[in-house]
Amino acid sequence: MKKLLTVILAIFVSTQLMAQDIYIHAGKLVDTKNGKMLNDQTIIISGNKIKSVEKGFLEPAAEDSLIDLKNKTVLPGLTDMHVHLESETNPSKYLQRFTNNPADDAFSSIGFAEKTLMAGFTTVRDLGGSGVNIALRDAINKGKVKGPRIFTSGKSLATTGGHADPTNGMNNAMIGDPGPKDGVVNSVEDARKAVRQRYKNGADLIKITATGGVLSVAKSSSNPQFFNEEIEEIVKTAKDYGFHVAAHAHGDEGMQRAVKAGVKTIEHGTLMSEETMDLMKEYDAYLVPTITAGKEVTEKAEIENYYPELVVPKAKEIGPKIQNTFAKAYKRGVSIAFGTDAGVFKHGDNAKEFGFMVEAGMPEMEALQVATIVPAKILKMEKESGQIAPGFYADIIAVDEDPTKNIKTMENVTFVMKEGKVYKNK
Ligand SMILES: [Zn+2]
Repeated sequence: MKKLLTVILAIFVSTQLMAQDIYIHAGKLVDTKNGKMLNDQTIIISGNKIKSVEKGFLEPAAEDSLIDLKNKTVLPGLTDMHVHLESETNPSKYLQRFTNNPADDAFSSIGFAEKTLMAGFTTVRDLGGSGVNIALRDAINKGKVKGPRIFTSGKSLATTGGHADPTNGMNNAMIGDPGPKDGVVNSVEDARKAVRQRYKNGADLIKITATGGVLSVAKSSSNPQFFNEEIEEIVKTAKDYGFHVAAHAHGDEGMQRAVKAGVKTIEHGTLMSEETMDLMKEYDAYLVPTITAGKEVTEKAEIENYYPELVVPKAKEIGPKIQNTFAKAYKRGVSIAFGTDAGVFKHGDNAKEFGFMVEAGMPEMEALQVATIVPAKILKMEKESGQIAPGFYADIIAVDEDPTKNIKTMENVTFVMKEGKVYKNK
């Protein structure tokens, strides 16, 4: 018996030693931690993690495999801090609120998730849908669907008639009176209950709509929509569950209330005053710019009947301002985290945001950092994501050119690995 055990143990140990590693030869490698470009590196991957990063091109052993990216620039997988994987803009989007079942959205989301991953985004924060995004996260984690690692808010929280009230613009028979379960809160008690409901549903964080928004069928794009005590209660309750809070905000007053209450990220930030920029710094909050979405709604507002009547003037007012606000906030020293609002435009086009950020004054290397190490910190993944370094997830992508010389190359990702598995190599 003892002998048999020894034999089994010997076999086990030898298969462990024989376990196949993957070697990647990287001609250029972006060191996101130090903001430097390295040349001629070998990344050794074991299972779903990076084992080591070595200078020069090391030859793999016979049992290991080699991926040749000598002619490419290699980066850690990117993170988009603001996507909506359940849907995508199209001329029938508003009608689909009445015709689609969650199962329809679920099937669509499979394709959107895959496009996002193939564009080099190995992690995303999904900031609101019906809850399909929670099931999507789980399906991806189980390997049933190809897609990025998802941190999701489930259904976002609004007040009655606010930006994420699910029955905005409906007729009287359908308008009903949605409550905390549906993500609509109107008191401190509701706020508490809505957060706990998100926990029960399986969300990873909380999203609120602190001001009016562009695409909701409602009049204001920017009025404040929560009282201080409601946001404070949301942030306080969220803390008990380890959730951070993200706040959609275009208007300055609603934004200020959110920042002072301890919200971690301000989404869009369109009409942010200098006073609020300084508050963001003081409270250690991040701006998630979504410039790409701003450009998209500006463009689509010109197409007749693309958006409902109430939406068009809001899109024309807010859309063109986002890039300029980003430029000002960045210059004033506000911390930035990469986020696009993909879904408002086509999934997979997320990397356009890099070009818009660089155009507005952010250096290329920093644009790469705010899409890697910065999100990792917000998502408490700083020891696992955002860098190509030992112990980190083997989330690795490559582009043909040096993005610090031509940032547009980020729009054409040619290699994608997530947790040691290759999804794209062309
Ligand atoms: Zn959004």
